[in-house]
Amino acid sequence: MDELNDQQREELIKDLEDLEASLIELLDLTQSKTKPVSLRENIGRLSRMDEMHNQSILLANRTVTSNRLKAVKIALAHANDGNYGYCEECGNTIAFRRLKAYPDASMCIACKGSAESS
Ligand SMILES: [Zn+2]
Repeated sequence: MDELNDQQREELIKDLEDLEASLIELLDLTQSKTKPVSLRENIGRLSRMDEMHNQSILLANRTVTSNRLKAVKIALAHANDGNYGYCEECGNTIAFRRLKAYPDASMCIACKGSAESS
């Protein structure tokens, strides 16, 4: 597998920074909506159920979002110390195509595939 060239690396780091910013924004946006339902006023029983349901989805998404943010931060740290773009499992270069789709990917497609099927 070819190493990333400087231009590709720069492009991916820019993607990571954009991704980090939008994830942080998403967490900020959802923050105000995750207060306990009981603190809300004037909602009936049915809408309260809806509210709790929506909230559980929102909280699940927040967990996904904050985990993704962690992965992005790790990738950015790797970018800083020159270890970005290598598979944490086999050490091979992760394909640019894959990083372009998932700039925070920490495994190459082969390792990711075997990790998921095992
Ligand atoms: Zn690998």
